[in-house]
Amino acid sequence: MEESIVEQICRQYLDKLHYEGEIIYWGTNMFYANNYCTYTETTNPHTYIYEGECRECKKEVKVSVPGEALHKYEQGGYIQDVMSMLSSDDREFLISGTCGKCWDELFEEDTDKENADETE
Ligand SMILES: [Zn+2]
Repeated sequence: MEESIVEQICRQYLDKLHYEGEIIYWGTNMFYANNYCTYTETTNPHTYIYEGECRECKKEVKVSVPGEALHKYEQGGYIQDVMSMLSSDDREFLISGTCGKCWDELFEEDTDKENADETE
């Protein structure tokens, strides 16, 4: 069976997103936040502050999620829809535990490799 470009990219990243033997599903849930982060709840405004370390560089990352957004997520909303007020870096961290800097490096690495193949 031939894979489409999108399928190849998904597989490539899913391979990288295995974490301690579990598969992190691309873009749909707060896998990392729910399993590997702690959170504190604040009022006025109602916010959940997730804290955890980046699984690549071990740097401490904090992500603030509005209470309303988390409530919508728990009712079955997709993270990219209900947490559109967060930066994509923050959402990626909640999903995969990879901070923005490391995420960029994952992409860069692949781009470099592709370019190297082309010039050979
Ligand atoms: Zn990092």
